[in-house]
Amino acid sequence: MPQEEKTTLIREDRYDAQRIETKWFERWQQDASLYAAEPNSTKPKYYVLEMLPYPSGVLHMGHVRNYAIGDALARYMWMNGYNVLHPMGWDSFGLPAENAAISNNTPPREWTLHNIANMKTQMKRLGFAYDWSREVTTCLPEYYRWNQWFFLKLYEKGLAYRKKSRVNWCPQCATVLANEQVVNGCCWRHEDTLVEQRELEQWFLRTTQYAEELLRDLDKLGDWPEKVRTMQRNWIGRSEGALVDFKLDGATDSPDSTITVFTTRVDTIYGATSIQLAPQHPLVARLTKNNDPLRAQVEQLIAEQRKAKEVGDIGAIEKHGVDTHRYAVNPYNGDRVPIWVANYILMDYGTGAIMSVPAHDERDYEFARKYNLQIRIVIVPRAVDPEETSVEPVLPFTTLDGTLVNSGPFSSLECGEAIQKMSAHAEKNGFGKATVTYRLKDWGISRQRYWGTPIPMLYCEKDGIVPVPEKDLPVILPENVDITLTGGSPLGRVPEFVNVTCPKCGGPARRETDTMDTFVDSSWYFYRYTDARNDRAPFDSKTVAYWFPIDQYIGGVEHAILHLIYSRFWTKFMRDMGLVKNDEPAERLFTQGMIIKGGAKMSKSLGNVVSPDDMVARYGADSTRMYTLFATAPDRELDWQDEGVEGIQRFLGRVYRFVARNAPVETQLAASPRAERETLQATSLQPEARQIQRKLHQTIKRVSDDFQGRWHFNTSIAAIMELVNELYVVEERVVRAPSPADIVSPSLLLDVQRNLALLLAPFAPHLAHELWEMLGEKGSLLRAPWPKYDLALAKEEEIEIPVQINGKLRGLIVVPVDSSKEVIHERALSHEKIKAAIAGKQVVKVIVVPGKLANIVVH
Ligand SMILES: [Zn+2]
Ligand SMILES: [Zn+2]
Repeated sequence: MPQEEKTTLIREDRYDAQRIETKWFERWQQDASLYAAEPNSTKPKYYVLEMLPYPSGVLHMGHVRNYAIGDALARYMWMNGYNVLHPMGWDSFGLPAENAAISNNTPPREWTLHNIANMKTQMKRLGFAYDWSREVTTCLPEYYRWNQWFFLKLYEKGLAYRKKSRVNWCPQCATVLANEQVVNGCCWRHEDTLVEQRELEQWFLRTTQYAEELLRDLDKLGDWPEKVRTMQRNWIGRSEGALVDFKLDGATDSPDSTITVFTTRVDTIYGATSIQLAPQHPLVARLTKNNDPLRAQVEQLIAEQRKAKEVGDIGAIEKHGVDTHRYAVNPYNGDRVPIWVANYILMDYGTGAIMSVPAHDERDYEFARKYNLQIRIVIVPRAVDPEETSVEPVLPFTTLDGTLVNSGPFSSLECGEAIQKMSAHAEKNGFGKATVTYRLKDWGISRQRYWGTPIPMLYCEKDGIVPVPEKDLPVILPENVDITLTGGSPLGRVPEFVNVTCPKCGGPARRETDTMDTFVDSSWYFYRYTDARNDRAPFDSKTVAYWFPIDQYIGGVEHAILHLIYSRFWTKFMRDMGLVKNDEPAERLFTQGMIIKGGAKMSKSLGNVVSPDDMVARYGADSTRMYTLFATAPDRELDWQDEGVEGIQRFLGRVYRFVARNAPVETQLAASPRAERETLQATSLQPEARQIQRKLHQTIKRVSDDFQGRWHFNTSIAAIMELVNELYVVEERVVRAPSPADIVSPSLLLDVQRNLALLLAPFAPHLAHELWEMLGEKGSLLRAPWPKYDLALAKEEEIEIPVQINGKLRGLIVVPVDSSKEVIHERALSHEKIKAAIAGKQVVKVIVVPGKLANIVVH
């Protein structure tokens, strides 16, 4: 045999992940259409999306896990014949770029783009199948100009507005935070920094306009995790109640002498024995105007409240109040009730005023006991015996399961009915109405920082607030700006940015120097992927209509409130603009579990961070990715073990070596047409061959079921491992057999190996492609059809086992060949005939000889 020919038959017998992965990395780089979604495709569409990262500089393992899940799914859908959209981008505005600019003296843009380049290289090295032609980078004008365009549309529709308000201020970020960004009183980015309260002029988006729909449509999101839906429900915090106007006693009848209270229990209003105002309530300022001692006491309450807000737990505040010695009149019965100011009443919840009903509210009861206020019972437990009406409730009696007493014409009504009738009564008499309030507040989007989208608004002395005309977009973020964390927005120190000509009057105007919250960027980025290079519109509506809603969205549960509420709001606003047809952005949501090491979240300070680069260098990309899917179910917390990655590498090595030894050489392949491989019948096979064929079909079924169902890729991969073990067992027998082809035909062996490569493709794509080529396949594995299983072939072989009672044959059971003692035991006792025969007798013991018989000994 000529030397040259011989070498083509020699295969590398060591699994060299670096060699294989570099080879495929280069091949995939050269094929731009490989992961591209097809235009005008007749295939069904599938949009799979992982949340886009912030380009901090390097990927962490949490990213790898998130993307490994999405990538496995994308590859699976491609192999199932779908037109798949699987894009990636960068949520690239935000504070870390400014901090880096300050500490390294690098402009934020340069720092950010450098990090993006790094992370993109890492993603490619890991073999993630992204369509990079659709990459979105939110800090570039081609993207953020559309944030500005949307802002103008929101402003036109009255959904963007400016107002002075008390805001959350993070001294570390030196900027305002949205309510959603305050976690336990601290900044969401600075977990140890207490958020302060400041009074500032701010831009808001009217998210509350959609509160009801945001809440109601959660019911449509059945394929979102229940935990996320619950968090959103609580955040939106809808409560039904009534607004009731109390008049300030002795005041002239004017609107500013009306105290409107919000209550969810108007049925208890005859039990109201005081009114409690928030310290910032406008009436308080009037009542304290000529009363210095009272004003000082109120200031004290404000200070206490601010402190409690800053530590984040207003609910746990030590309740204090002061009596104003003024009275309000209960419109239902004309009762005069004292007006108090209390530190636990918040101006931004409800109306900033409540009626206090100590007998029927926990908090009011506590307060009344402390200050010795009157307690009046107006609800009693529903009497079981109608004669027995004087059941004294234990106070505070707060349930709705009661009957009204001492409530004028409403006495003897049940609470539920009373709420309806009493709200209607207020409405009819013009002193109140039924209403709904929400905990959800409008979204404050002004940030006093540099690295964000400039808000496209101007201030003219003559015309007031003037929007930048659409034709002048984008308002470009200037470069070479002096960034410091003090002295207001850095943009305010750039005269050529600030000073402009008013488009209305031609006079001098000043540009808005606040930038937008970066959550604006991520509220709609996934629409841009469908039409990422459009320079006339944010996207083409027809293209969006084809791809939306997203079929599967995957990301961290930490976005349950912020990103996932904002992006739902944005979708509804765009739908109402006529830009999109879908009501919700994503059909299904999956939240992956966190990765920890040694029992703690990975962090630099703990020194337990595992670097993806390091893992890839040691074990390869396939082993690293596959481990994140194998270690536990993807929704669970994963405790990282390097040995686990090593274990996966060993497994992939076993697969590689098996195929290296058993893949047919070219000449054999030519002699084994596919038609023959596919007509193998179970009946014509030797037991070993049948065993391997059964295992193959069982494995295909398990992996396919996992993709369709709960995504327990850990069990999918375990099943593939079992299949490989089975192959090793059979190989052993083949090697020893005098005539190997009699045990397993070469065509069956080839079939199993081809399917093994297909099954591995979503989890270990580099190796799977290599195996595919070793098996003589030419086309791309990504376009090869996902293997099908045959239930008949997957079925375990069954045998009949005789069941005896006290040694006498009494029945036969049919069980799988390899059934354990326990299975046979259980089946024997549950067999109808046997059950009848042993009824009323005592089973002393059951003797099972697996594969042979079961004998039940009875008295
Ligand atoms: Zn902060
Ligand atoms: Zn003007």
